[in-house]
Amino acid sequence: MNYKLFIPGPVAVSEKTLRAMSRPMIGHRSTDFVALYQSLQPGLQELFYTKDPVYLSTSSAWGVMEGSLRNVCRKKVLCCMNGAFSDKWYNVAQRIGRQATALKFDWGQPVDPAAVQRELATGAYDTITFIHNETSCGCMTDIAAVMAVVRKFPEVISIVDTVSSFSALPIKKDELGVDIMLTGTQKALALPPGMALLSPSKRALERAAGTTDRGYYFDLIEFQVNHEKGMTPSTPSIPHIYALQSKLEDIRGEGIEARYARHARLNKKVRDWAFDRGFKLFPREGYGSVSLNCFANTLSYDLPALNKTLKSKHGFLIDGGYGKLKGKTFRISNMGDETDETMAALIKALDLSLAETPKLPAA
Ligand SMILES: *Cc1c(COP(=O)(O)O)cnc(C)c1O
Repeated sequence: MNYKLFIPGPVAVSEKTLRAMSRPMIGHRSTDFVALYQSLQPGLQELFYTKDPVYLSTSSAWGVMEGSLRNVCRKKVLCCMNGAFSDKWYNVAQRIGRQATALKFDWGQPVDPAAVQRELATGAYDTITFIHNETSCGCMTDIAAVMAVVRKFPEVISIVDTVSSFSALPIKKDELGVDIMLTGTQKALALPPGMALLSPSKRALERAAGTTDRGYYFDLIEFQVNHEKGMTPSTPSIPHIYALQSKLEDIRGEGIEARYARHARLNKKVRDWAFDRGFKLFPREGYGSVSLNCFANTLSYDLPALNKTLKSKHGFLIDGGYGKLKGKTFRISNMGDETDETMAALIKALDLSLAETPKLPAA
């Protein structure tokens, strides 16, 4: 069954990327590998807006979300929670035995800088985690406002998840003072799932060096030692690195500013369509994501029926709501390689499909 994903991850992968992945393997300790690894750094640093190294981790994003915490949290972490992924991050902190405080906001509400200020001012924390773009509810936090608070607490290392916003808009790591910025490959970068990227500050590495239970696979010091040789600690997914090389070429070709503008334009196109049909955005006004839209199912459509029609008759798939928002919201991704044409085709198919989708009795 062939259909195209418009769910917010994994997203559709281009033929060019898939072709890049099918190149022959090279040894991960070879000079060819070192040249490949090193050739990617300038492009990656440009996208991270950083002078720090960017590590390639063969894992999904959760690997480095957990690993970063293990490396830098010794005292206590403040976990900002406003959706499914950030809620789970708190749970992960507990599972690895870290002291953690849950700073909760309703799903769809952004992280409130004033609340972060109040908590950090207690002096209890050495780490903070938050998610820039909560994919589960399409809510984008004002990262500049939150980091302006975090920077006032030099003992606090910040770990920021940009899994679904990286490269969709500028996120200036060094300027913001983010210590560890991380992303996955299968969302905004439109590569297959299976790799994560992370860039640690010097401060983060210094903290890690003094942490005893870093483990091995996600040990930042191992990453750094190998990075200096142009390598990864263990055998990486070489196909993903080829794919990343191909994607950086694409981004350079399009132009980074044009890429940001494309995401903003396509995001608005979908939003305008939905507003026109009577739907409302789920997240708080002014905090909607730029790489996806999460709409409240204000018209009570039978979302599984909608998706079934969309998939069987038009070959597209959207998302019918994450976790507790299932049936109550639907999400449409515009991240990665989408164009005016692909989004127009989806919108046309959505209209045709909605016309034959039953409505559920209002709850
Ligand atoms: C998808 C997602 C993750 C988890 O990514 P995996 O690759 O499944 O580990 C984490 N954070 C955000 C914001 C996401 O969208």
